Amino acid sequence: MCPPETPTDFIRTIIQEDLASGKHQSIVTRFPPEPNGFLHVGHAKAICLDFGVAEEFGGRCHLRFDDTNPSKEEQLYADAIQEDIRWLGFDWGEHLYHASDYFEQLFEWACHLIREGHAYVDEQTAEEMRANRGDLNHPGVDSPYRNRPREESMDLFLRMRAGEFEDGAKVLRARIDMASPNLTMRDPAIYRIQHSPHPRTGDQWCIYPMYDFAHGQSDAIEKITHSLCTLEFENHRPLYDWFLEHLPVPAKPRQYEFSRLNLSYTITSKRKLKMLVDGGHVNGWDDPRMPTLCGMRRRGFTPQSIRALCREVGVTRTEGTVDFALLQSLLREELNETAERRMAVLNPVKVIVENWPQGKVEMVTAKNHPSDPLRGSREVPFGGELWIERDDFRIEAPRKFFRLKPGAEVRFKYAYYLTCTGYETDADGEVTEIRCTYDPESKGGNTEDGRKVKGTIHWVHAPSAAAAEMRLYDHLFREPNPEEGGDFLQNLNPDSLKVVSAWVEPDLAQWPAKKAVQMERLGYFCLDPDSSGEHLVFNRTVALRDSWAKLEKKIQQGSAGT
Ligand code: ATP
Ligand code: MG
Repeated sequence: MCPPETPTDFIRTIIQEDLASGKHQSIVTRFPPEPNGFLHVGHAKAICLDFGVAEEFGGRCHLRFDDTNPSKEEQLYADAIQEDIRWLGFDWGEHLYHASDYFEQLFEWACHLIREGHAYVDEQTAEEMRANRGDLNHPGVDSPYRNRPREESMDLFLRMRAGEFEDGAKVLRARIDMASPNLTMRDPAIYRIQHSPHPRTGDQWCIYPMYDFAHGQSDAIEKITHSLCTLEFENHRPLYDWFLEHLPVPAKPRQYEFSRLNLSYTITSKRKLKMLVDGGHVNGWDDPRMPTLCGMRRRGFTPQSIRALCREVGVTRTEGTVDFALLQSLLREELNETAERRMAVLNPVKVIVENWPQGKVEMVTAKNHPSDPLRGSREVPFGGELWIERDDFRIEAPRKFFRLKPGAEVRFKYAYYLTCTGYETDADGEVTEIRCTYDPESKGGNTEDGRKVKGTIHWVHAPSAAAAEMRLYDHLFREPNPEEGGDFLQNLNPDSLKVVSAWVEPDLAQWPAKKAVQMERLGYFCLDPDSSGEHLVFNRTVALRDSWAKLEKKIQQGSAGT
């Protein structure tokens, strides 16, 4: 049943067994985000699992908003969540639900628990409740209201709903076991008073169900077969089952837990990501440095690379941190295939070609992809005035520096061989201009005599180049574990964004949004939505494999380099 290329894991094994044994005819899963922020890369793991298994086993996956806390939730987030899931390539069809769709039923079931003696209205203060809850070493203390008559609880609960009491004045609690070794089972709250209008139900309600109560019962109403969640809910499973046992629910879903996705240098908590946004540490939820799906999309990450990451990581119950470099390498692997090549110069210095005919512009042919001829080629202007990377020239260069240096000959990719004849510097010794001569016999970057030119550099033709703002990103945090030392805000990387003014090939001035491009030797880029008319802005999605950076380092240490 499971396609052979699909990696298998304990959840898929369980599903396979349940289908084989006839326990279920088909499976139903759900992805249950709370619309209180934007989705992040961690959610992608849950999405790939929930929607992925439904697809593979011919079942279906519901999108259900866990909208039980109106003070934190907004329609804006709900809309963004849907966009992000679709972007990842998943679809819930007509199965879009909200916990709030079930408020009336959930209220009914809360009344049922009261009538059966399984729930009571507590009037302790929040502090008293906390103190009486006990801890891992001490059993809790029963509330003085725990044994009040059912009728009294029912009356109070109805009056809670009617809006007679202030926020927090009373709560409805399940009556389970204040001495349970599992703290979740110590008479958990199931309804609280909250006088906040709800994005969907308006001011119809001033009491709202708690997550644990709403979640499992929503699963039951939707006849979810496998309710998949992260390991922090393992302790909640007995409560999940307890509600199902004590209520006349139409189905008995089962909850299974798997480990969260943690990525190095990355925070995956909506609450903390919101702190970054609210504190102005980033430019919004879709800042390209954010691990939100919208931020990653803006940066140029592809849904395929994120899905590939989730596939690589697999589904287990072992907690661990995945190296961010894995995601980058999956992304490079994909973009290497898909992205066309163009040239851009990030840190320019001028080259004057002394023997180039005055004013002449010649078109040279550049391949759009080095290994895919079907991608075709383009004509790029070349002439007597060029920009190259400042790093591609050294006055004093080690023997193995195969780029431009006085007296040396270098291939200007797709164009000609140029030999450096001199240079100018300013008062600080900074190179302001490099002079070269070109070999007219070397057009296309080859000569008949087959002489060896080791170095190849990229360039743009100065008079026809377009100006572009390049945004170069580094990790948002300095530490692989952003929580190192206890406060992630202390570990922000002050150099996570570098903005440079660059020159790019003329046709990048009309580059389509969302289309990846490899700027040769510099990395993969995409157009940022901040671009407008004349003003081009590119994001560097990911640098090329570290080889260039390593080379730079080696050269600085004086050892080697092409
Ligand atoms: P956050 O702590 O970021 O707010 P959450 O779990 O509160 O996350 P929800 O909107 O409630 O956010 O999550 C929806 C689903 O996504 C849940 O089933 C949750 O288990 C799952 N999920 C959240 N974070 C991760 C993660 N890092 N890895 C895998 N699944 C996750
Ligand atoms: Mg949550």
